[in-house]
Amino acid sequence: MQNYLYGVDLGGTTIKFGLFTYEGENLDKFEIPTNKENEGSNILKDIATAIENNLNHHGIVKEAVRGIGIGVPGPVTNGIVNRCINLGWGVVNVKAELEALIGLPVYVSNDANIAGLGELWRGGGEGYKNLVFITLGTGVGGAVVVDGKVIDGFVGAGGEIGHASIPNLEEGFPCNCGKKGCLETVASATGVVRVAKQLLEHSDETSSLREVNDLQAKDVFDAAKLNDRVATQALEVFGKNLGYICSIIAITNNPEVFVFGGGVSKAGNIITETVQKHFKNYAFYALKEETQFKLATLGNDAGIYGAAYLARIE
Ligand SMILES: [Zn+2]
Repeated sequence: MQNYLYGVDLGGTTIKFGLFTYEGENLDKFEIPTNKENEGSNILKDIATAIENNLNHHGIVKEAVRGIGIGVPGPVTNGIVNRCINLGWGVVNVKAELEALIGLPVYVSNDANIAGLGELWRGGGEGYKNLVFITLGTGVGGAVVVDGKVIDGFVGAGGEIGHASIPNLEEGFPCNCGKKGCLETVASATGVVRVAKQLLEHSDETSSLREVNDLQAKDVFDAAKLNDRVATQALEVFGKNLGYICSIIAITNNPEVFVFGGGVSKAGNIITETVQKHFKNYAFYALKEETQFKLATLGNDAGIYGAAYLARIE
C-alpha cells in the first residue's frame, strides 16, 4: 500500500519537508538550509538525501510512498522550472532530476500554487473545490484551483495575481517585475506601508502612525482597527484594489472562496471584511453574495501540505 506522501517547500533560505499519510495527517516535519552555492547545484541532491534519511529514520520502505510533491519559487511547466532567482537556478528539470536521484515519482509546482493547494486540502479552503488563494506577504502571490486542480497555465504564470495592473493607479509605484502599478505595489505588506507613508506625507491629519518608527503593515491595520483616519484610508486603498482584482477573477473562473494568507492576513477579519465590501461594489450581481472570503489557517506549513497533496492527486 502506498500510504505515505512527502511535501517539500523549497525556499531561498530553508527547505521544509513534511511526511504525511495519504489521508493528510502530518507525521513529521523537518527542514534543512538551502545551499545556494554553485548556482544551487546541490539543492536537489540535498533534498533526496534528506528524504532518504527520513525514510530510514521511520523505517518506511520506498514502495510505501505514493510520491513527492515540491513547491519551487519560480514558474513551472511540466515539472520544469524556468529561473528561480532566489536559488540561483536557470532552467531546471526538477521532476526528471529529482526522480533520477530518489527513484520515486516527483510532482512540481510553483510555491504559491502549492500553498493554495495546502489551504484547499487542510486549511481555510477545506471542503471547497474551486478556490483562489492569495498570499499577501512581501509580495502578492496567488493560486487558482478549479475542480480541485491547480492551474499552472501555459508558461506557468497562472495565479500571478500580484502582477495584475491596476488601472489609473495614481503615482504607479514601480514593481519588482519591471512594470508599474501592479496590485503587489499597494496590497503586499510593503505596499500597504508605502501607501500609508504617502498618505501621511500628503496630509496634515493627526495619526498614531506618525509616532511609529520603522512602520510595518501590522501597525497600519492595528491603527485602522482603532479608527485612525490615515490608517483607515490605507486599508481602503488595499481593500479597493484587491476587491477589484477579485471581482475580475470571480467572473473568470467563479471560485466558491477567496482565501487570504501571508503576513498581512494575520491582521484578521478586517482584511476579509474590507476586501469583501469593495468586491461587492465591483462584482457581477450573481457573485456578490455567494462568493466567500476566508483567512488561511496553515501559516508557513501550507507549502508542505500542498506539495504532499499534489503528490496525492497527480
Ligand atoms: Zn509586478
